[in-house]
Amino acid sequence: MEQLRNSDPAVLEAMGLELKRQRTNIELIASENIVSEAVMEAMGSVLTNKYAEGYPGKRYYGGCEHVDIVENIARDRAKELFGAEHVNVQPHSGAQANMAVYLAALKPGDTVLGMNLAHGGHLTHGSPVNASGLLYNFVAYGVREDNFLIDYDEVRKTAFKHRPRLIVAGASAYPRTIDFEALASIANDVGALFMVDMAHIAGLVAAGEHPSPVPHAHFVTTTTHKTLRGPRGGMIICRQPWAAAIDKAVFPGSQGGPLMHVIASKAVAFGEALQPSFKTYAQHVVKNAKVLAQTLVDEGLTIVSGGTDNHLMLVDTRNINITGKEAEHVLDAVGITTNKNAIPFDPTSPFVTSGIRLGTPAATSRGMDEAAMEQIGKIIAMTLKAPKDEAVLAQASKLVAELTDRFPLYEQVKY
Ligand code: PLP
Repeated sequence: MEQLRNSDPAVLEAMGLELKRQRTNIELIASENIVSEAVMEAMGSVLTNKYAEGYPGKRYYGGCEHVDIVENIARDRAKELFGAEHVNVQPHSGAQANMAVYLAALKPGDTVLGMNLAHGGHLTHGSPVNASGLLYNFVAYGVREDNFLIDYDEVRKTAFKHRPRLIVAGASAYPRTIDFEALASIANDVGALFMVDMAHIAGLVAAGEHPSPVPHAHFVTTTTHKTLRGPRGGMIICRQPWAAAIDKAVFPGSQGGPLMHVIASKAVAFGEALQPSFKTYAQHVVKNAKVLAQTLVDEGLTIVSGGTDNHLMLVDTRNINITGKEAEHVLDAVGITTNKNAIPFDPTSPFVTSGIRLGTPAATSRGMDEAAMEQIGKIIAMTLKAPKDEAVLAQASKLVAELTDRFPLYEQVKY
């Protein structure tokens, strides 16, 4: 970073502080991960200079022969990873990927059935403040109040009532396995298209740790930076008959030039995900989440739906008399990064919430094992039960520091 040190020390200093934060905090935000240095190197490369509107072999700019190689590698690896017929690796983000599918499959005003945001769905699945909710007529399905599992009977009833053109599955805060086959059969019976946004679970799907939506859905969208452990970005998988419409909806439909440095980085991450070690990683993510959830239950905390099948869990903090907002704040103070999250049927506002969301992808990438998860669960419980006790908070901070020292991060990186 010598050039940056000379030319822009203010930015470098902030980067250094962020590196320190990542090293000294335990990252439990379920949508984050820690990428390899190879993934970062591809991103910080000369490929950022290149305009490449269009697709490999059919560009609107000269000089694309080398970035074509990169995009073809990324596409081919993604196809192999997910057993896909067609992949578009150009979406700049998960939100862009979702909007491109809507553009390809829908007309403004069409009805879409998606998961209730308050039950774990995502902003881009019809929030009234998002383009999806502004342009299309979204109706929602949710989870059952008695077990917090997706109510597939309700999905069927709602689908037949509203006759959507598209059914959207996938979530940002759903800790259980999603039955894509059941949802596909509802879509089929009602004559709807079926899209799965697997952003959160893509890495688990790639590793066979969650059933794949690819055989069941017309479209599968994802981010590349969550459990998949690549750079920040998006991707769309679809069946061959939809390939041309999807490519057109990404460019020129909703984006300009692709970020070739990010696509190179996606290619590197997909290459890593094809290695046997990634399967082991994904298995550990799931095992770690189970251990963390069980430790919290043993400590008297409430986990929504009683546990987890994937990489994340929702803690209902009402029985320990702390809001989600306060919980996030005090955990941050002791070096554990989480986010407040509404729980299904949450009586409090989304700015306060009655819960937090925890996930294990980043901590697992750092090498943290089941014993570490048990310790983390105990630190979380002691902190949340005594958020105003300075002695407890000091002890929690000390235990966090011991753990982060034991699992060092980016030892070769120097800012
Ligand atoms: N879809 C789901 C299910 C998500 O959880 C997220 C991000 O949290 C997105 C889409 C959006 O991804 P991005 O932030 O890259 O736009």
